Amino acid sequence: MISVRSLDVALAGRTVLSEVGLEAPAGSWLAVIGPNGAGKSTLLRAIVGLLPYGGDVIVDGQPVRSLRPRQRARLVAYAPQSPVLPADMTVFDYTLLGRAPYIPHLGRESRHDRAVAGEVLERLDLDDLAGRPMGQLSGGERQRVVLARALAQRTRVLLLDEPTTALDLGHQQQVMELVDRLRLADDLTVVTTLHDLSLAGQYADSLVLLAGGRVVAAGPPGEVLTEEAVEAHFGARVSVAPGPDGRPAMTLVRP
Ligand code: ADP
Ligand code: MG
Repeated sequence: MISVRSLDVALAGRTVLSEVGLEAPAGSWLAVIGPNGAGKSTLLRAIVGLLPYGGDVIVDGQPVRSLRPRQRARLVAYAPQSPVLPADMTVFDYTLLGRAPYIPHLGRESRHDRAVAGEVLERLDLDDLAGRPMGQLSGGERQRVVLARALAQRTRVLLLDEPTTALDLGHQQQVMELVDRLRLADDLTVVTTLHDLSLAGQYADSLVLLAGGRVVAAGPPGEVLTEEAVEAHFGARVSVAPGPDGRPAMTLVRP
C-alpha cells in the first residue's frame, strides 16, 4: 500500500533523510521509531506529499507527487505532531475539516459529513466536547481532536505523528486500541511515529528505526527492539524480554 524508495529530503540546505526505504502492505501497521531529530516527522510529511523530496513515494500504486491535493486527501489522512489549532473553532467544526476533500468547492457539508464527524467524536469519547472551542481543551483532548479530524477523512491510509505523546495511560491505550480496531475492521494501513518503544513493539507489525536520517534497522518488533540497538541509537540502557503477548517488553535499567 505504501512503498518508499531511496527517499532523500533536504530542509534549509541540510540533508534530513537519506536513502530511506520502507514498505507497508495494505492492512498493516508500521511504526517509525528513532531518537529526537532522527527525521521521523519529516518522513511522514514526505509520505503525505507536504515536502519536496527525491526518490519515490508510492501510495496505492500512485506516486504521491502526481496526486492533486483533494485526491491525496481522500487517500491519506495525516495527523501532525503539533498542529496549529484555531482557538475559536469548536471541536465539531474542527473535526468536520476532515470532510473537506469530499465537500464540493463553494459547497457546504452534507448531512452525511456531519454524521461522520459526530460518529468519530463519539468513538474517541469526545462527544461531550463537541461544542467547546479548541482553545479551551487540555493537551490530551486536543490530541484526540486532531486524531478525530484525521479519522473523519475516512481514508485507507492513516499517518499519525506521535499520536499518544500528550495522553495519560488510559487514553494512550484507548487511542492505540481504537486505531487497531479501525485498521482491522476497515483494512486500513497505518504508519505512526512513536517515541514510546514499548507501545511501538506492542501494536506495530513492523518497525523502522531511523537514526540520523537513515534507516538503521527494520523488521518485526522482536528483531528491531534489541538491547544493543536501543543502547546504540537512544543511548539508553534497557532490558528487553518477551512480554505476555510474546512481543518485546522493555524496562529501563539504571546504569
Ligand atoms: P523527529 O520527528 O525524528 O524528532 P524531525 O523530522 O522533526 O525529527 O527533524 C529531523 C531533523 O530535521 C532535525 O534535525 C530538525 O532540526 C530538522 N528540521 C525539521 N524541520 C526543519 C525545517 N523546516 N528546516 C530545517 N530543518 C528542519
Ligand atoms: Mg517528530
